[in-house]
Amino acid sequence: MSDNVVLRRTKILATLGPASESEEIIDSLVKAGVDVVRLNFSHGSPEEHKQRADRVRAAAKANNRTVGVLVDLQGPKIRTERFADGKVKLKVGAEFCLDAGLGKNDGDKTQVGITYKALPQDVKENDVLVLDDGRIVLRVTSVEGNRIHTTVVVGGKLSDNKGINLKGGGLSAEALTEKDRKDIKVAAEIEADFLAISFPRNAADVKLARTLLRDAGGHGAIVSKVERAEAMENIESIIDASDVIMIARGDLGVEIGDDQLPAVQKRLIKLARRMNRVVITATQMMESMISNPIPTRAEVFDVANAVLDGTDAVMLSAETAAGEYPVETVCAMARICRNAEQQLDAMRSQHRMNQMFERVDEAIAMATMYTANHLNVRAIAALTESGSTALWMSRISSGIPIYSLSTHQRTNRKVSMYRGVTPVDFPVIEENNHAAANQIAIDVLLNEGVVTDGDLVIITKGDLMGTGGGTNAMKIVKVGDMPKLAD
Ligand code: PEP
Repeated sequence: MSDNVVLRRTKILATLGPASESEEIIDSLVKAGVDVVRLNFSHGSPEEHKQRADRVRAAAKANNRTVGVLVDLQGPKIRTERFADGKVKLKVGAEFCLDAGLGKNDGDKTQVGITYKALPQDVKENDVLVLDDGRIVLRVTSVEGNRIHTTVVVGGKLSDNKGINLKGGGLSAEALTEKDRKDIKVAAEIEADFLAISFPRNAADVKLARTLLRDAGGHGAIVSKVERAEAMENIESIIDASDVIMIARGDLGVEIGDDQLPAVQKRLIKLARRMNRVVITATQMMESMISNPIPTRAEVFDVANAVLDGTDAVMLSAETAAGEYPVETVCAMARICRNAEQQLDAMRSQHRMNQMFERVDEAIAMATMYTANHLNVRAIAALTESGSTALWMSRISSGIPIYSLSTHQRTNRKVSMYRGVTPVDFPVIEENNHAAANQIAIDVLLNEGVVTDGDLVIITKGDLMGTGGGTNAMKIVKVGDMPKLAD
């Protein structure tokens, strides 16, 4: 395994697309240290996504790595339709109409069609519509039937199929469209490890997605993309209903204002970790690397600051999906994460010092991290069924590597998103043979090259191995001092 993989705690989530779907590039991305890939269902066919997922799993196997697959649903993203000439130039102060009744290709410099036919009912005079991630801003002057009349506040070029957001939020669109419901079935077929819901408004949207995925036979963890102003009003219940949240800074910034994003990012990361949930920081992290081989200083700081805020994962979108330097971007991001993690603030924890624990396995996980952070321990080996011990451990800031050892591939792929946790396949141990389990755990750490004779290691597991939620013991052992197993 390369240094990129072992020494980095923050996980890298890379979006696949035309620039990164070949077997060769996927292999290079896996080698460079991608932990989870994102299949963006806003683009591409189910067949293309299935093929990409197959290639990722083959590359992960060939490189002896665990890589999770995340399916990102399109959701009710509202877009303009197309222009007869491909694009128009809008001048500040000009009148421009968004028309739900206009033909798909009939846009011109005075009007364009829209994909969400109920938009005219959702907006009123003086509302502000933000197009193309903020590049164009329109103020509503009146609504007549299907037609939303506006004045251009920020002008510029507007081309086909650009996103539309209502500043301040409030659109009535359901989070799960008909297309999303079909795509959830595809996610189940792909055996996606994560299903990301776009634009959830509340916990009910999240629970519905989970039910639909389970009904389709899917096992994936549910990721809520926080990208709507309303989601911020219901944020605790949304986090509670989710396994993971994604700070989707693109749409969220448009809805709440980009100047609000830094504070919101810090708050969401803290809240998610406090609620024992996983958090991804997304969008424009290395944007300039779409066409440049090195990041800007501002991007270096953005990634490092997200690491210091405590994010589990940092995400790449167009940088790896459509950029000229997908592999270089992952390498640069890995390097920035590893260096940011060396800051003392990233290793210290005051987490849950004054709280009671609810479960025995949770108490063991907390005691392990407290001990690891206060004793000179080299590594932690958590034998886990569901990954929950590894999740609790990873909520504590630490510099000690956590190895999550599971016999279940699904668990290993899920924990691939947890900060500080390295998943490794573990064999089934017959007859609760604890001596064998301990020795194999140590062997795994020796194989990974993280420990050597004389190092202290903490092993956690349950009396009854193979039982979910059964972790009830932590053991501190010195590598090399374990009694040898009989042949
Ligand atoms: C975002 O808006 O920041 C985001 C991650 O969503 P998407 O890329 O699907 O628009």
